[in-house]
Amino acid sequence: MKRIIRVFPRKTSATPDDDLARINCAPGAGDDCDEVHISVVFTWDLDRAEQLARSWRVVAPVKIGGPATGERSGDFVPGMYVKKGYTITSRGCPNRCWFCSVWKREGDIRELAIQPGSNLLDDNLLACSDAHIQSVFDMLKKQPRVQFTGGLEAARLKPWHARELRKVRPKQVFFAYDTPDDFEPLRKAAELMLDAGFTVKSHCLRCFVLCGFPKDTLVAAEKRMRDTIELGFTPMAMAWRNPKTGEVAPDWKKFQRSWARPAAIHAKPKSKPKSKPATLQRNLTDGSFQHWNTPPEILDPLRAFLPITLDPCSNPRSVVGAQVEIMRPDDGLAIAWHLYGHTFVNPPYIDQTPWLCKAAAEHVLFGATVTVLIPASVETGAFRDFAFGYADAIAFWNKRIRFLKAGAVDGGTGSGNSLPSALVYFGPEPGRFTEHFSKCATVVHNWSGRK
Ligand code: SF4
Repeated sequence: MKRIIRVFPRKTSATPDDDLARINCAPGAGDDCDEVHISVVFTWDLDRAEQLARSWRVVAPVKIGGPATGERSGDFVPGMYVKKGYTITSRGCPNRCWFCSVWKREGDIRELAIQPGSNLLDDNLLACSDAHIQSVFDMLKKQPRVQFTGGLEAARLKPWHARELRKVRPKQVFFAYDTPDDFEPLRKAAELMLDAGFTVKSHCLRCFVLCGFPKDTLVAAEKRMRDTIELGFTPMAMAWRNPKTGEVAPDWKKFQRSWARPAAIHAKPKSKPKSKPATLQRNLTDGSFQHWNTPPEILDPLRAFLPITLDPCSNPRSVVGAQVEIMRPDDGLAIAWHLYGHTFVNPPYIDQTPWLCKAAAEHVLFGATVTVLIPASVETGAFRDFAFGYADAIAFWNKRIRFLKAGAVDGGTGSGNSLPSALVYFGPEPGRFTEHFSKCATVVHNWSGRK
C-alpha cells in the first residue's frame, strides 16, 4: 500500500490530524513517502499550494487536488482528505446558485458508496434518490453524535426526511439561508422539523446565513439573523469572500464572529420596542407625540469626548450627526452596535428599558462602547439593573436639559422637561469620561454593586 503524505495549506475543523497529515509546512527530517498530495479547499490558497508543491517535490512526486482546483472529486475515502468521523455520501448539486462552485465543479448530483461517519458533509444530500437518503439515515442511526454540517436544502425537505432525521437524534442539523428565496422554504422546513419532534430549545436546528455579499448591508444581514431565530433556528453567519482574494471586509469579519457562537447568540437581547415608533418621544407637557432631539449642550461635549459613529434611534430631524443613523422602519435594537465604534442613543422616554438592556448586553458581551441619555430616574428598575448594574460611569447633568422640539436647531429649544438627565457610559475609559464631564455634571464611576 502506498504511503501518502497529505499537505493542507490551511487547517479547518475537518482537516485530518493523523500521522501523515501536514498543515502548511515544508517537509521535515524523516518525512518519507511514495506520494505527496496537496489538498486545496479554497481558491485563494492555490498560490500557497504551488509553493508547498515545490518544497515537497524533493521528497516524492506531488499531486495538487481538492475543490479549489476545479477538478471533479473522486470516490470518498474516509480519513484521507477530511478527518476521520466525517463522511460524504454524494457529490454535486442540481441547483445552480450564483455564488457556489459546487455545481460548476461536480455537476449534477451523484451518489457514492456509503461510508460510515457521524458528520455528513454532502453538498446536497436531499437531492439524492429516496433509496440513497434512506440508506444514509440507516447508517447514521448507528453513529454517535451525528451532525449534518454540509447543510440540507430546506426546499427539498419532506415530512419523512424530518421524521427520519429525528430518529437519528443529531447534535445539530444545518440548513442554509443564502438568498431571499430561501426564507419561505426555511419557514416550512422549521415547521416540519418541529412537527417531527425537534425543539427550538435544544438549539439543534442550525442555519448557515450568507452575509456580506455585494450590496448586502449590516442592517439587512442582522435582520436575516433575527428572522432565522424567529423561525426556530440558531443562525451561523457565513461571510462572503472575494472569490479572487478570499478576503472578507473587516466589518463583515466582526459581524460573522458576533453571529458564530450559539451561546452568545441566545444571550442577545430579544426585547423590541413596543408599538410606538422608536423615533418618537412623548411630549411631556401635552401628551401628544413629537420628536424630542438631543441638544448641542449634550452633543458638543460628547463628541469632544468621542466621535459618535452610530445613532440607532434616530429620526429625520436629529442633529446627532452620527456616521450611521438607524430610523424607522429599520429597527435599531436589531443590529449589532459593537460593529460601529461609539454608539449614542437617546431612547424614547416611554420605552427606556430595551435600549438600556441592549447597551449593557452589547458592552458586556461584545465590548461595545455606548453612551445612553436617559432621565435620571434612579428609582426605576431599568436604571438600577442596567445603569447601576453594568455602566462604567454615569454623568448626572447639573442643569435641566432643554431638548430640541420638533427638531428645531436654532434657538427653537423645547421646554417642559420636568426630569433631570443622566448620560450613562458603557466603555473602557470611565476615568477620562469622569474628568471630561465633571464641569457640566456630577459624575460617578467605580461604585460598589456593579456586576
Ligand atoms: S444548493 Fe447549495 S450546493 Fe447546491 S448550488 Fe446552491 S449553494 Fe451550491
